[in-house]
Amino acid sequence: MNVLPSLSEHYTDPKTYPPGVAFLDGQYLPISEAKISVLDYGLLHSDATYDVVHVWNGAFFRLENHLDRFFAGLEKLHMSIEYDRGQVIEILHNCVALSGLKNSYVEFICTRGMSPTFSRDPRHAVNQFIAFAIPFGSVANPEQMKHGLNAAISSLVRIPPKSVDPTVKNYHWLDLVKGLYEAYDRGADTAILIDENGNVSEGPGFNIFAVINGRVLTPRFGVLLGITRQTVFDICTNLEIDCSAVDIPQDQLLGADEIFISSTAGGIMPVTKVNGQSIGSGTPGQITNQITMSYWELHKEENKRMVVRYLDDK
Ligand SMILES: *Cc1c(COP(=O)(O)O)cnc(C)c1O
Repeated sequence: MNVLPSLSEHYTDPKTYPPGVAFLDGQYLPISEAKISVLDYGLLHSDATYDVVHVWNGAFFRLENHLDRFFAGLEKLHMSIEYDRGQVIEILHNCVALSGLKNSYVEFICTRGMSPTFSRDPRHAVNQFIAFAIPFGSVANPEQMKHGLNAAISSLVRIPPKSVDPTVKNYHWLDLVKGLYEAYDRGADTAILIDENGNVSEGPGFNIFAVINGRVLTPRFGVLLGITRQTVFDICTNLEIDCSAVDIPQDQLLGADEIFISSTAGGIMPVTKVNGQSIGSGTPGQITNQITMSYWELHKEENKRMVVRYLDDK
């Protein structure tokens, strides 16, 4: 693990795979060669947890927070990996360094793995740690960043926290994916799901915020505690904007002055239309823009960065 192999002789088909590097079975591989067994319960039962951190301008942002969430998830799911925190940092670092990507989407996963006898007892499975670095990706494309996303409130209820713990980042995405298809049918870009009480919950890989009368509000219940969501709380404290986790009924969202979403994949992204209705002025709002600027400014703070040493660094 200490030796960085050269991956340059490997060919990655640009039509099929993004450039990138994975760590699987104790080895670094070009992303195109990183494949798991069809018998892995991560695939068969969505029995897995994961996290996504990004690298921006050659440094990880808030990696420690992502690691805290990942290791807490492992514990809650009775999983364990053969690498400690320091080794996971080294693996993630090496994936990015080998990829050469200065802006990267870095995912790390623990699957239940497979059991040698195909036993249905999850205790018999050998948990598997996988990581990969690919180019930075965003929920919103440049056009949507500029003009705002058009979201549709889904008819589906987000999988209840009494069924699946939403604070463990997971692949129970069938409600979110179905929500996306509903949204596309209605000419929207993305979906917002409601919780079992009729309040706003979250969307496919992002948390949701509403700005109402100068206050920034986000759902308190049934959501992943996003690291970007936490960063929004921190930014609001700095900017002396009131920010609270509360119940947000659907109607309140539709009447908001501004809406934005947050994710490691893209940061802070404006939403200017919900269910075909313009939000506020119909353009990205002032508080949204202020928080977005602060978010990228924060990436320069030493205590939130972990610099990547690339192979060509001297
Ligand atoms: C990853 C994710 C988010 C956003 O979390 P960040 O830590 O900010 O990237 C929100 N909701 C769901 C369901 C997610 O999977």
